[in-house]
Amino acid sequence: IARPLRLGSRAIQGFNYWPRASSTLQNPENGSGAHLRPPLQRPQLRDHKDRHHHDVDVAPHLAKQPLHPLSLADLVKHGRPPLSAEALLASARFTLSLLPVRLAHRIQALRNLPYIVVSNPNINRIYNNYQHSLSTLLPWQGRTISNLDDEIRFTEVLAELVQTHTDTIPILARGFLECRKYISPSEVTRFLDEHLRARIGTRLVAEQHIALHFSSTPHFDPAASPTPCPEHPSYIGVIDTALRPASIIDSCGDFVAEICELNYGVRPRWIVDGEPDTTFAFVPMHLEYIVTELLKNAFRATVENGMNREPVVITIAPEPPEVKPPPPPQGQVHLAQPKESRGAFGRDAIAPLDDNAPGVTIRIRDRGGGIEPDVLPHIWSYSFTTFTESDDVPGAGSEDALSVITSAANNGGSTIAGLGYGLPLSRAYAEYFGGGIAVQSLHGWGTDVYLQLKGVGKIEQDTTTSARKVL
Ligand code: ADP
Ligand code: MG
Repeated sequence: IARPLRLGSRAIQGFNYWPRASSTLQNPENGSGAHLRPPLQRPQLRDHKDRHHHDVDVAPHLAKQPLHPLSLADLVKHGRPPLSAEALLASARFTLSLLPVRLAHRIQALRNLPYIVVSNPNINRIYNNYQHSLSTLLPWQGRTISNLDDEIRFTEVLAELVQTHTDTIPILARGFLECRKYISPSEVTRFLDEHLRARIGTRLVAEQHIALHFSSTPHFDPAASPTPCPEHPSYIGVIDTALRPASIIDSCGDFVAEICELNYGVRPRWIVDGEPDTTFAFVPMHLEYIVTELLKNAFRATVENGMNREPVVITIAPEPPEVKPPPPPQGQVHLAQPKESRGAFGRDAIAPLDDNAPGVTIRIRDRGGGIEPDVLPHIWSYSFTTFTESDDVPGAGSEDALSVITSAANNGGSTIAGLGYGLPLSRAYAEYFGGGIAVQSLHGWGTDVYLQLKGVGKIEQDTTTSARKVL
């Protein structure tokens, strides 16, 4: 559906932001959409120290500028159909106004890590990716994107940026594991929490423009393309205004069951109940990431607990407009309120269009035996895992952890567990739009995970003309 660009850039052609007929996932971290994109050829990066001999180091200066608080209104306002050429240019200019400062903040944060940590080859690779991405944007600063040729070239830069940072998670995981002697787990979690949240926002901004670009025709004739992506009229850029969580759950369930079959030789079952026809406005890629990670955990626990015959039960409940805390599980001891959500509107969260946006709560209930009490306090730490490839004692040798990471990187994320990033990163995605994740374990029995998502806001759809109004 994504139309090839007139100028035929390899970087852009590989992207496909629209849902496919198959259950192929395109979520940002599980890498399963990676085959959709051809590998990108780009020049070998120079070491940043060489670069400094020639170029002015602008990151410290840029990082002094405050981050522009993102709002969803900003993200959708350029995408309102009919998408005019002017709106597309405005979107490009808006995107350009945000990204260099965001990248510079990340560069400075990486530089503030202990020197021995930034020198680690894996962390350094991520650092160089940021330097590289910033250097590709700098030539655009101080000029105006004023015609569609500019816009195409700028979109190519964005596509390369998104591509460059795709495989960050296993690389960072490996880097921090190799550096664990020099930096404490709590420092790592603090750094990653900020870094990965910022990364969500930066990618979202870039991907939103790329998707808007694709929703226009190459020659951009508004008369020929009155609505973004006519085949999927509910999309505004990367936001699906009528996202049906049940469909995402089923396609992610198929994907994760496949991984289980490869790993364990069994295929756990799942049931979707509650109100499966619920729809709300959300970013499908984000929901795919979260649901894939939560199902991996639920399926793994189910299989390892020998409970394959018990399906994982996923209950979908539309959230009434006022935000209510998730109800305590029925018939169980009322534990401390499982609301783990913290400061949803930190500086890298996005304000919803409307505080009363309808949302959805999804409960994933497995019979996987629950979480050991001594494990429970650690589950939100980046890189904490009880997964070992060799079925040894939990938390076995670091060589084992490294081999898990290596296979995670090689398999494009299709490992069942082992990075220890699933829960904390899923929570970061959920909190991005003001939602949250809470885990309630009944040790010896199973686990309930409550995923609460706030919709991105009220986007009214006028079905008679298929024109949409964003309030
Ligand atoms: P990973 O899956 O790579 O280990 P996660 O962050 O997804 O990392 O989960 C961290 C740990 O939390 C897991 O290793 C597991 O011990 C525990 N856990 C998470 N979800 C469940 C569940 N549904 N049942 C039992 N244990 C769980
Ligand atoms: Mg996991």
